Amino acid sequence: MILPGQHLANRNTPQLDDPVSRLNGVGIRIEEKLNRLAIHTVQDLLFHLPYRYVDRTHLTPIGALLAGQDAYIQGTIELAQVHFGRRRSLLCRISDGTGAVLLRFFHFSKAQQNTLKPGVLLRCYGQVRKGPNTLEMIHPEYQHIDQDCPPGLDEQLTPVYPSTGGLQQRRLRNLSEQALNWMISDSNGLAELLPDEIRETFRLPDLVSALRYVHRPPPEIDTRTLREGRHPAQQRLAFEELLSHHLGLRQLRDLLRQERSPVLPLSKGLVPRFLASLPFSLTPAQQHAVETIQADLQQETAMLRLVQGDVGCGKTVVAAHAVLQAIEAGYQVALMAPTELLAEQHYATFSQWLAPLCVPVLLLSGKLKKSDRAERLARLNQAESLVIIGTHALFQEQVTFARLGLVIIDEQHRFGVHQRLALLEKGIGLRQYPHQLIMTATPIPRTLAMTIYADLDNTVIDELPPNRQAVTTRVISMQRRDEVITRIAEACAEGRQVYWVCTLIEESETLQCQAAIDTCDYLQNNLGPLRIDLIHGRMKNDAKEYVMREFKAGAIQLLVATTVIEVGVDVPNASLMVIENAERLGLAQLHQLRGRIGRSEIKSDCVLLYQPPLGDLARTRLETMRNISNGFEIARKDLELRGPGEFLGTRQTGLPVMRIADLMRDAGLLPQVQKAATLLINKYPDRVELLIRRWLGDDAGYGNV
Ligand code: ADP
Ligand code: MG
Repeated sequence: MILPGQHLANRNTPQLDDPVSRLNGVGIRIEEKLNRLAIHTVQDLLFHLPYRYVDRTHLTPIGALLAGQDAYIQGTIELAQVHFGRRRSLLCRISDGTGAVLLRFFHFSKAQQNTLKPGVLLRCYGQVRKGPNTLEMIHPEYQHIDQDCPPGLDEQLTPVYPSTGGLQQRRLRNLSEQALNWMISDSNGLAELLPDEIRETFRLPDLVSALRYVHRPPPEIDTRTLREGRHPAQQRLAFEELLSHHLGLRQLRDLLRQERSPVLPLSKGLVPRFLASLPFSLTPAQQHAVETIQADLQQETAMLRLVQGDVGCGKTVVAAHAVLQAIEAGYQVALMAPTELLAEQHYATFSQWLAPLCVPVLLLSGKLKKSDRAERLARLNQAESLVIIGTHALFQEQVTFARLGLVIIDEQHRFGVHQRLALLEKGIGLRQYPHQLIMTATPIPRTLAMTIYADLDNTVIDELPPNRQAVTTRVISMQRRDEVITRIAEACAEGRQVYWVCTLIEESETLQCQAAIDTCDYLQNNLGPLRIDLIHGRMKNDAKEYVMREFKAGAIQLLVATTVIEVGVDVPNASLMVIENAERLGLAQLHQLRGRIGRSEIKSDCVLLYQPPLGDLARTRLETMRNISNGFEIARKDLELRGPGEFLGTRQTGLPVMRIADLMRDAGLLPQVQKAATLLINKYPDRVELLIRRWLGDDAGYGNV
């Protein structure tokens, strides 16, 4: 029925690709907010999936609560008091006869305090955690209950959607409800893009029922599989999402494969001379990586190679081989590092290696004087073959290369697909795409790598140089800090050098981290005659460079540092590292830091100082560090503890945020995803683009190189 005054478009039957503004209750303000969530059409709402569910279908007996679980409980307040600890908090102990649990509120009003009194009956929903003494819920949602007529329980799980400021869950639920109704009336609107043969082979439910199930789980189901994301409906959607990402990357790779790249013949002069100048010979794993790369560079399609190798395995020397092959062929090389500090260090290393070979090495640091910068940019614009080292500054627009033949990206986990593409376009002056070598110390499990780096070939350097000694790791409470300081004095007396790593630059009340500056003063006072200095991210570049040079030269014995030294810093004589507040850091970061020592035949020690009491997760992390030294095993553990989004640093990698798939949980799907992708490309090529657009959006950027 058409109401008078209704917009003409409304006369059409609803179409899923209509703008969301056609739904009831969506005015300009709401539409803007929805757009912020990348929701533009009604169909986008269907693919805006709940990331968790609230389960108020039953009450859990308090005595049966487990830490980590989300639970709905009911109990009577037995005790309520304000606790004055590190932070003032309101504590209420509630009990239901089966057990007791503590509710903890850090923020509370006078009014709240007055209503949360002994004898009051509450229903609470929240996450159960292990507190210092008993199980706790921090800031649970709660509701006062009238003993005589308690309200009923929910019949089904309530979906919770990713949202943005000012967009209520209730509103999102209402909109997804409308979208689901449209989906049913517009039965042609939502294409099933997975062919029957794929769905049958992998036993996947159809799209429409999967979406309905995930948005509105029916009552009386096994809520646990759903909350864990393992229900077939969720798995079906996760499968499709992973498939789309994988297809996107394969498409990118195919596009690049069609482009020409410069053929770089094997180096007959520079590489042999370089090898002869090295004080060591390559490990077999390095040798293998070098040979693979040498072969890649002789092809006329671009090399797209990821070299993974644990910290200290010697990736830089492998990269140097590629550099020399490109230089000898008359091309330019750009080496990109994630931080200024690391760029400077590479600059120092490469200058030292390549100067005797008369290969020019330039540093393009962010803080160069205008004239110096202009001079360097001009040299890039001429066809001079040289190596340029820098950070992101390298792919700013003003930087143009006349003969870029090779791009090397170190510590890849900080760069995303888009940044890689930006650099590739720098080769356009040549009408050729530069070869790409990506080096990372963040080991990625194989299936994961094959899926999320499907655009790259993979080489692993799986051994350390023979002169390495395992690092002994100790986990020590901050209360024993003075003993550690004594050890530092002893180590320095033996001619060793020491890192002391602080986790924050400035004192932060809430985090209780020691400030590096204060620590440096403190250590200076307690280790008087030692030569101690400080390095942190807020120092000027030349000051940082100066300190690093002095440390490398042995003039500084104890270097107090923030995590700026995390990546790549190489001072083989440093053999003791103390990491303060180690409990604050993740496994990947701890492993990176520890990789700064144990770089020579000197026996090395790492001390992880922690501030008690330790939470469960922190304890597991520190124990993992103590027991495991292999980066791949640590990465696996990290993945297990945190899930891949965080592990890979979603934001930093530019790795797409998944809507429903979880790379850790769904790792088992990955081999099937790869098979399905091949089948789609070969037999249903027209669906590939549609899938990519459905899950990655139009601005996915993969396709439009
Ligand atoms: P990463 O892989 O972490 O980047 P680097 O390339 O910085 O490691 O190498 C770490 C240290 O090991 C450097 O001092 C380097 O000169 C040295 N090194 C590299 N390869 C070998 C080798 N085959 N034998 C001995 N030392 C090596
Ligand atoms: Mg390195």
